[in-house]
Amino acid sequence: MLIFTRPEEWGALRKSYFDHRGSVGYVPTMGALHQGHQSLIERAVKENEISVCSIFVNPTQFDKSADLQNYPRTLHADLTMAEESGCDAVFVPEVKTMYGHAVVSGAADYGALTSTLEGAHRPGHFDGVVTIVRKLFAAVEPDRAYFGEKDFQQLAIIRELVKRESLGVDVVSCKLIRDVDGLALSSRNVRLSPQGRMNALAISDTLRQLRLRSGEVSPEMLAKWGRRHLAQQKGIELEYLELINEQTFDKAESWDEPVRALVAVCVDGVRLIDNMLMSTV
Ligand code: AMP
Repeated sequence: MLIFTRPEEWGALRKSYFDHRGSVGYVPTMGALHQGHQSLIERAVKENEISVCSIFVNPTQFDKSADLQNYPRTLHADLTMAEESGCDAVFVPEVKTMYGHAVVSGAADYGALTSTLEGAHRPGHFDGVVTIVRKLFAAVEPDRAYFGEKDFQQLAIIRELVKRESLGVDVVSCKLIRDVDGLALSSRNVRLSPQGRMNALAISDTLRQLRLRSGEVSPEMLAKWGRRHLAQQKGIELEYLELINEQTFDKAESWDEPVRALVAVCVDGVRLIDNMLMSTV
């Protein structure tokens, strides 16, 4: 497996190792890889002649410096996992390579897509995401890029970015991978205490209960019930729980729309997000 740290290296590597032939499938990550990431990498490997993964903890998408500092970094294990998943090359740039001396991001305003939910609760987060994805796409020049539904809003924003800026990348959405007990896999889960991890099960449990009850009352009423229920669970600090139209990101008004529940909570001071489709049309 090739490892490169500078965008300029990739062109030469691609030429000498792959003779520029075949499609490039790309998986951007922030490392601390788990089976969720692995599923994306395996899909990129399967669907492309050349597969590339990047590991870069992007400072501009963190709205809290403590979160950035505490973000797990496990490069050695990550490289092993990428190689075992069949990945051809891993891009591991440094912050100064991606940003030079100015670690700043441009503003991304895609209406409700960027202003609601994560956009409202993490100021500047999507500005940082859009800025780095533009830079990473320019470096790797992928034909397809793989993003997980775990970050459902991010996925929608990347699709919009590619469309608005005609980036010529096929964005492939990959299903959310859960642990056997239902907890959505996340790099941040390692920061949970054993008790916190137990408490965190209330997130997926609530989403499942919402899905079972969808159609019984209006989406607005169900969201209210979900918020009340989840906020009462032990160790859960609720940030938001909303039922939205998964295409427009407006609040869902009826069950004649594709409705998805998105949720963010803090457990043990660790911020966790999850989402689940409630109904299709
Ligand atoms: P991250 O390293 O958290 O920035 O995630 C890198 C990519 O992996 C993003 O496209 C995420 O949506 C995806 N991802 C993270 N966790 C999961 C999961 N549990 N299931 C599916 N995809 C995931």
